[in-house]
Amino acid sequence: MPDTHHPAGSPDVPGGGRPGLRADCANCFGLCCVALPFAASADFAITKDAGRPCPNLRDDYRCGIHARLRDSGFPGCTVYDCFGAGQKVSRVTFGRSWRDDPRVAARMFEVFPVMRHLHELLWYLDEALSLPAARPIHAELGGAFEETERLTAGTPDDLLAVDVAAQREKVNALLLRTSELVRASAGGRSPDRRGADLIGASLRKADLRGANLRGAYLIGADLRGADLRAADLIGADLRGADLRGADLTGSVFLTQVQVNAAKGDEATRLPPGLTRPSHWQGPAAGPPEEPGRVPARRPRPRRR
Ligand code: SF4
Repeated sequence: MPDTHHPAGSPDVPGGGRPGLRADCANCFGLCCVALPFAASADFAITKDAGRPCPNLRDDYRCGIHARLRDSGFPGCTVYDCFGAGQKVSRVTFGRSWRDDPRVAARMFEVFPVMRHLHELLWYLDEALSLPAARPIHAELGGAFEETERLTAGTPDDLLAVDVAAQREKVNALLLRTSELVRASAGGRSPDRRGADLIGASLRKADLRGANLRGAYLIGADLRGADLRAADLIGADLRGADLRGADLTGSVFLTQVQVNAAKGDEATRLPPGLTRPSHWQGPAAGPPEEPGRVPARRPRPRRR
């Protein structure tokens, strides 16, 4: 399901991260389009069980409606990113397709979410390692990256035995320290809004420089013209948030999926490595969506 997750997708993968941490659908057997379930909703036109191929998945593992996912009722597919887990499971862990052997298929679909969790951690660690402000802890970040990467190289049994929650906790502690260093260097004085309920909040032109918005619920928030430089946006829910004219340069742990789920325009300033979604083009977006009308999506892992 991709824009970033472009299972069956295209190479319009946004930047950021090492190549192995970017979805490479050409080398994946469309795992996210098969392994993951979804329910008919504003995000998905149909209901599909886990392990059942999406009917839009073609024989060549490409999405038959990739160019028109939103118009076809599958916007949920544009806000998923496997962080390169799909091609890793397809080409490294198994080296063959789920279509080749149904017994292998079940294992692949079990391993895929584990790999996806680990690759997401690698993505954030990679970003942290690129931040000059985090230099004092680069050695620890590098160690955590190597350790996590080693876990991804295991056999299917090894991967299924990984304590993902423990690894996530260990990495998250380092990401928190990274966040503190970055925000301190930016001189941000914004109040701590970690995990805050800011659904539909009016934050137009708000000074959120260096703000801690980890896991904040910003669904449908009006962030037009807001200053979000050096803000920590890890896990923030930006679905339907209005970022027109907002400045997000230097914000940390913002992913393409979060950007894809928001609204913006030509005046929105993004961190390097992230791209302006195609649906931000064209006529200016309307007023912020009513929170109650924001489509429900598959829950995402949250970090606080
Ligand atoms: S519509 Fe189906 S095949 Fe296309 S991206 Fe979504 S899940 Fe994959």
